[in-house]
Amino acid sequence: MRKKNKFLTFSYDDGVTQDKRIVKIFNKYHLKASFNINSELLGRPGYLRRETMWIGHNKVEPREVSELYRGHEIAAHTLTHPHLPELSDEEVIRQVEQDRINLERLAGQPVYGLAYPGGGPTHDERVVKLIREHTGIRYGRTTISSYSFDVQDDLLQFRPTISHREFDRMMELGERFIKQAVSEKPQIYYIWGHSYEFDYYDSWDLFEEFCKMMSGREDIYYGTSQEILLHRGEL
Ligand SMILES: [Zn+2]
Repeated sequence: MRKKNKFLTFSYDDGVTQDKRIVKIFNKYHLKASFNINSELLGRPGYLRRETMWIGHNKVEPREVSELYRGHEIAAHTLTHPHLPELSDEEVIRQVEQDRINLERLAGQPVYGLAYPGGGPTHDERVVKLIREHTGIRYGRTTISSYSFDVQDDLLQFRPTISHREFDRMMELGERFIKQAVSEKPQIYYIWGHSYEFDYYDSWDLFEEFCKMMSGREDIYYGTSQEILLHRGEL
C-alpha cells in the first residue's frame, strides 16, 4: 500500500477540564492529538482572567488522565509550568524529566514529547541542549507558528503550523492542505492551542466544523505528534 504523505495533528496544552469536550470532538472525527500536561498541577482548580471574562482553568484529576486521553498522546509540559530559561540546569532537567516520568506512570504509555510552557521565549539554546542530553524527551513543540507544512530538521524546537486562535488563517491553510496533491515530500499540518480558549472565543462550533472538514480523507494520515514526528518514515 502506498504510504500517505500528508499528516494532520493537534497539540493541546495544560490538561484543563475543557479537554474533555475537545477529546469528544477529536474522537467523533477520528482525529488524533497530543495533550501536554503539568503533572504537579493536576487536580487544581483555577480561573484565568481574559479582559472582562473569567475562564475556567481547572486541571483534570490525576486519576482521569489515562481514561480521558485514551487513543491520544500524553506529553510533558513540565511539572509546574515555569519559564525554563530562568531556571538552573538541574531545575530545567527536573521540571522536564520528572514530569515525563510522572506522566508515563499515570498514562501507562511511554512519553517522548514536550510542549514548552509559557509564551514569548519559552526556551533557549541551553534549555534545548539540557533536554537533548539529560532527558528522555525526543521532540519539543514551541509556540512559534511556521505557517508551513514543510518537514523540520530540529525536532527539539519544532514549530507548529498555526494556533487555532488564528481561526480564519487556520481554515485557509486547511483548505489549501486538502487541495494539495500528494507529493514525494511529506507535508504536516500541525495545530496547537489550549481548549479553554474555545470558551473564551466561543468557537467550539467553528472548530468542530474545521475538524469535520479535515476528517475522513483518504490521502491524510491522522496521528499524534509522536507518531508523525518520530515515526513518519514508517507510517
Ligand atoms: Zn501551558
